[in-house]
Amino acid sequence: MPWFKKEKTPIAASTMTAVRVPEGLWVKCPSCAQVIYNKDLQANVHVCPKCAHHFRMSATERLRSLFDGEWQEHDAGLASSDPLDFTDTKPYRDRLRASQAATGLLDAVIVGSGTLDGLPVVIAAMEYSFIGGSMGVVMGEKITRAIERGLASRTPVIVVSCSGGARMMEGALSLMQMAKISAALARLDRAGLPYLSILTDPTTGGVTASFAMLGDLNIAEPKALIGFAGPRVIEQTIRQKLPEGFQRSEFLLAHGLLDAVVDRRELKATIARALRFMHEPA
Ligand SMILES: [Zn+2]
Repeated sequence: MPWFKKEKTPIAASTMTAVRVPEGLWVKCPSCAQVIYNKDLQANVHVCPKCAHHFRMSATERLRSLFDGEWQEHDAGLASSDPLDFTDTKPYRDRLRASQAATGLLDAVIVGSGTLDGLPVVIAAMEYSFIGGSMGVVMGEKITRAIERGLASRTPVIVVSCSGGARMMEGALSLMQMAKISAALARLDRAGLPYLSILTDPTTGGVTASFAMLGDLNIAEPKALIGFAGPRVIEQTIRQKLPEGFQRSEFLLAHGLLDAVVDRRELKATIARALRFMHEPA
């Protein structure tokens, strides 16, 4: 049995609209308590105009913020086949169905190709509202194919991470994706093509422990939670109190784990500048 299946069509549009929760007109910033008109927030790439708090973005909004205009989506029809027939508090199959209905996606990543400031790129963006952006076989396969697409077209690859890590419900098969994606990145590297990793809030677990930290540039958004294990587990293991700001972008930058922390409003321009420096388009 294959670990993923190819659906004939993504979820029907009617199912998507029926379950979509209507969004409020106003949003309160959790950081400065400013009340913001939702349309203004969207126009400001979901950054608070008053205090620069970065709200979480959906995968689609993320791609819209980076691509110049239209992009071509790839492998949208891949869905998990629930290879372990897994059940915890409820069957994994039911969780998948609920997330698919809520997001209109079949799994937690969207891959597209298009141009960024005129430069051809392949971008994979994760959807946190799909089982915590967790990485199962489908995400692993889609990101690997995105890298292979970059190789075939001699195009830089960008992965925007927003993930709780490997997907428990697919067990060791999830962990194998770390090696698979890393191996594909090594091939991209040997071909002299750039890979940029963008780490957003949160980027943790097996995603951090593999491709999110393998970028030619690892760029994080401000104040993003980035780590492997959670702080409680680490404190219990090393029996020490963790320092202030531990596992946030700025702390990681100060300790040499990141190349830059970039405000989302500057992200596209920063990526374009880096790619022009690193890569001669074919
Ligand atoms: Zn604010």
